[in-house]
Amino acid sequence: MFEKVLIANRGEIALRIHRACREMGIRTVAVHSEADANAMHVRLADEAVCIGPARSADSYLNKSAIISAAIVTGADAIHPGFGFLSENADFAEMVESHGITFIGPTAAQMRKMGDKITARQAAIEAGLPVTPGSPSLDTVEDAKKWANEIGYPVIIKAKDGGGGKGMKVAFSDDDITEAYTMARAEAKAAFPSDVVYMEKYLQKPRHIEMQILADKYGNVVHLGERDCSIQRNNQKVIEESPSPALNQAQREEIGEIVRKAIEKIGYFNAGTLEFLFEDGKFYFLEMNTRLQVEHPVTEAVSGIDIVREQIRIASGAALGYEQKDIKFNGHAIECRINAENPETFTPCPGKITEWHAPGGLGVRVDSEIYSGYSIPPFYDSMIAKLIVHGHTRNSALMRVRRALEEFVIDGVSTTIPLHQEIISQAEYIDGMYNIHWLEEYMKSRKTEK
Ligand code: ADP
Repeated sequence: MFEKVLIANRGEIALRIHRACREMGIRTVAVHSEADANAMHVRLADEAVCIGPARSADSYLNKSAIISAAIVTGADAIHPGFGFLSENADFAEMVESHGITFIGPTAAQMRKMGDKITARQAAIEAGLPVTPGSPSLDTVEDAKKWANEIGYPVIIKAKDGGGGKGMKVAFSDDDITEAYTMARAEAKAAFPSDVVYMEKYLQKPRHIEMQILADKYGNVVHLGERDCSIQRNNQKVIEESPSPALNQAQREEIGEIVRKAIEKIGYFNAGTLEFLFEDGKFYFLEMNTRLQVEHPVTEAVSGIDIVREQIRIASGAALGYEQKDIKFNGHAIECRINAENPETFTPCPGKITEWHAPGGLGVRVDSEIYSGYSIPPFYDSMIAKLIVHGHTRNSALMRVRRALEEFVIDGVSTTIPLHQEIISQAEYIDGMYNIHWLEEYMKSRKTEK
């Protein structure tokens, strides 16, 4: 097992990884930007190294500064968390070439599954259901030809896309030119490549994803699904497990399809396969070759510490259990709480004057915040994740309502009021929502006001 792990991230996820390491008897090295010198992950780690100025490009994305920090402190492994360098195959390769273990899959696995076009191909070969789609599109004429073959509406997506960027929907030949041109322009601005492709656009799907764990010896298990259909701007807001839309037979069927596909692909460490689900059918969207923000809902229902498993797998340990050993228990819901104006969603950095996190049975809060902490304006605005677990979906709903009521965060605006509103709506309570529900609800609420 590793003796010292460097955590190449910040915020609640850096703290989450630190906690797993401590419970495994592993020492930790925090890296931080100049703006994060007082962050909780820096305070709690055994050692801390400043890797550059506030801007992410100069610090959390600065590969050589991070690797130098690992060498200087004698870390045996680097955990990348999510975001930043977590899906950067070049970084994984650099880390390994310095004799340090990258806690994640290999660079080759990341390249194959991180590119949406090659991942689609690998998914088809591995027997996963996909949306009808095209290869890469070189011209507008190409786009038009494929759109007519697939049938409108279609969505044009960047092969390197992420964070909901570089995606444009076209409903007819009239708007295909604009969708194609804009998707390419957005991709060019945000990603390494402006290559785009096309998929059938599903109109009322749910977003359901499967968590997998696989070791280096070909053992693969799935940890069930997460329903992440409560979204705004293609970004997840609330997640839950199990999905209220699946029955046991559907759950077992997709679980087995995914497990076999991962065996075939030969992937290891933790990973997530994202699907759209409509009219009882799954359509593979993409694979995330890293830990997900919403991993705690799976931890709550499976009882498995996913970060601990990532570290064990990277160190060469075998899973040590099979699919039949995994028992799912109860229902979990996660709310992503952002420091943002809950009406306009403009980020609201600043000083936290008062902080009281909820507690009690079945309540978990993952957050780096403490009273007196100043949220820097340079990074993502998520400041806390509230995760509740109950025996049934109904008890989880009552619990999330109670926990949100208890939360006190003074000094900055947060999205807590939005969460309170969502969980009180009949569609949410009944589990009858798709990926467009939240935006449609917010629009209708505005016209009523
Ligand atoms: P990213 O990598 O940018 O997150 P994804 O491919 O995971 O992009 O898609 C993000 C979201 O965009 C999905 O959760 C869904 O809301 C929407 N989306 C993507 N592809 C489709 C599609 N074919 N039909 C309908 N919605 C889609």
